[in-house]
Amino acid sequence: VPAIELKGVTKDFTTRHGTVQAVEEIDLSIRQGEFFSLLGPSGCGKTTTLRMIAGFEEPSRGTILLYGNDVTRTPSNKRDVNMVFQSYALFPHMNVFENVAFGLRRKKLPEAEITTRVGDLITLVDMAGKENRKPKELSGGQQQRVALARALVNRPRALLLDEPLSALDLKLRQAMQLELKRIQREIGITFIYVTHDQGEALTMSDRMVVMSDGRIQQLGNPREIYEEPSNRFVAGFIGTSNILTGTIERIDGDIAVIGASSDERLQVRLRGQAAIGNMLEFSVRPEKMTVASTPSDAGCTVRGTVKEVVYLGTSTHYIVTTSPGADVTVYSQNTALAHDRFATGDGVWLSWSADHSY
Ligand code: ADP
Ligand code: MG
Repeated sequence: VPAIELKGVTKDFTTRHGTVQAVEEIDLSIRQGEFFSLLGPSGCGKTTTLRMIAGFEEPSRGTILLYGNDVTRTPSNKRDVNMVFQSYALFPHMNVFENVAFGLRRKKLPEAEITTRVGDLITLVDMAGKENRKPKELSGGQQQRVALARALVNRPRALLLDEPLSALDLKLRQAMQLELKRIQREIGITFIYVTHDQGEALTMSDRMVVMSDGRIQQLGNPREIYEEPSNRFVAGFIGTSNILTGTIERIDGDIAVIGASSDERLQVRLRGQAAIGNMLEFSVRPEKMTVASTPSDAGCTVRGTVKEVVYLGTSTHYIVTTSPGADVTVYSQNTALAHDRFATGDGVWLSWSADHSY
């Protein structure tokens, strides 16, 4: 059975100003042992979704199942899940060991068992030797490790993490991303991870959803989300995307051919219904395009003029004005192979495969 299932879960908040639809009709099935992320901009309903899974918030409609059991009306402390917050909320007067041991002491477990289990977790989060330190003697990253150990000590079947790294600086955040992934792999429990940081979600997740306005926009693994965005919101929210439009002139099988001048070619592999004469809007990632001095025999090849060149060492970014008057961004890798370089004002050809248009 799935670790967590949401069926038609909706949450409305009634405030003085009216009703806020925080989460609308979420359907989701999260597998056991999966690292699953909820990604989306601030206010899209991530925290509310997590709080409903934890039992801190009751859905207005819909059903939540944990390991096949309906827990929609089950109080938080009877659910086998735990939550880690952005603010670490450690007990300031207790040392590392006692902070982690807290949940076990409340359960009145034998001292020997507490020592073993707390010791194992302190080792797991790489805090061995710092058992006697108080939270104020620890860095932000170390405090978050202790918070993680404390949330895991009761052996929950799923751990819910709400932007746990957002208070850390970039370098530490990146190191902790890999740490969290390692810890999750070692203990094998389901992690549900909330973040507004697309890089973080792509790096860490087995699968993820992209949310906006309380709804799921797309579900997939990181590669699918990045390379096959299912709509304009996802294409724009994750990384950079060129949005292009054109009128369908011809359809060959599942390839739509878009009107272009005689030596240019624009083709899109269709994934839904479309007819001749339809306006088609599609997106192409900057790294899927090549820039050259001549046209290519790729599915798409269009003429343009270099407007800006940004040299970044490992890559060069070109902004190219294409014939229809749109600016297109292209990332070109500076590999060891000799290749052309272009300057502002150069006439160039951009090429990409019809399979890389979404
Ligand atoms: P996120 O975590 O993605 O930033 P939230 O789940 O916190 O989003 O919030 C989603 C929406 O619900 C927002 O518009 C927010 O203002 C609203 N909201 C969240 N909690 C409450 C609440 N307790 N009362 C009223 N509105 C709320
Ligand atoms: Mg939030």
